[in-house]
Amino acid sequence: MRAPRLLILSSLVAASLLSACASDSSIREARQRSDQQYAQSSISEEDVTAEIQFGRELAARILARYQMSNDQELIRYLNLVGKNIASHSDRPELNFHFTAIVSDEINAYAAPGGYIFVTTGAIKEMRDEAELAAVLAHEIGHVTEKHIVRAIGIKGADSSALSGISKLLGASNDPSRVAFSQAMDKALNYLFENGLQAEDEYQADSTGTLLLTQTGYDPTALQRYLDRVKKQRKQLNIVNKTHPSFDSRLVRIDQLLTMEALSSEPNKVYTQRFNAQTKF
Ligand SMILES: [Zn+2]
Repeated sequence: MRAPRLLILSSLVAASLLSACASDSSIREARQRSDQQYAQSSISEEDVTAEIQFGRELAARILARYQMSNDQELIRYLNLVGKNIASHSDRPELNFHFTAIVSDEINAYAAPGGYIFVTTGAIKEMRDEAELAAVLAHEIGHVTEKHIVRAIGIKGADSSALSGISKLLGASNDPSRVAFSQAMDKALNYLFENGLQAEDEYQADSTGTLLLTQTGYDPTALQRYLDRVKKQRKQLNIVNKTHPSFDSRLVRIDQLLTMEALSSEPNKVYTQRFNAQTKF
């Protein structure tokens, strides 16, 4: 079993690399356009370190709430798929980490710096690798666009949120420790209680869909997944309080696919490989 699995996994990367060339330039242009509204000054090394440290601390709090999966094959698979997508993002300085948390909830979380979590409940709802890639790409979008960091709103010397966090981490006085702890509570609130702004979610959907396409996966995978979860939630009567309505997200993704003519892109879904790697 081991040898074929390794072969399959190495072909995953090769296939994605091969299929990534098709329309790189048009997708890159589209991403640049979507980035323009969030144009920002360059980030210092110190700020990136602060972002990672803050994210690591937040990731620890997320793990305190859930049981982490100990399925090493699954975690290895998530990292192969996720890191491949992240390699197409515009944050090459970040080392992304992907893991599964054992929960029936259908959800995924991202902490600044590149810490991504997906529940086993969400994975059970997926039908192929493209859908898994789509969910990971949405979360990568939250990280690359620094949604949590911006939402926390601590301002540093140059009025950027990252330098604010950097300042808090560097200080050892009580007010700074209190401010850091408050920032952490705020971040947890965005993740688990009130959610981010709807616009941030739409942006993560569009950044994610463009990354997905650039990596060579089926561009409609996020749409397919959200549509299935929407129907499932109706049945279970669960309200998703941290994200805007499924309908509004689906409409926007549809607009993006039409506008960028993405539906004609390669349609790689990798169903068998997904099924072989996600047996639980
Ligand atoms: Zn989201």
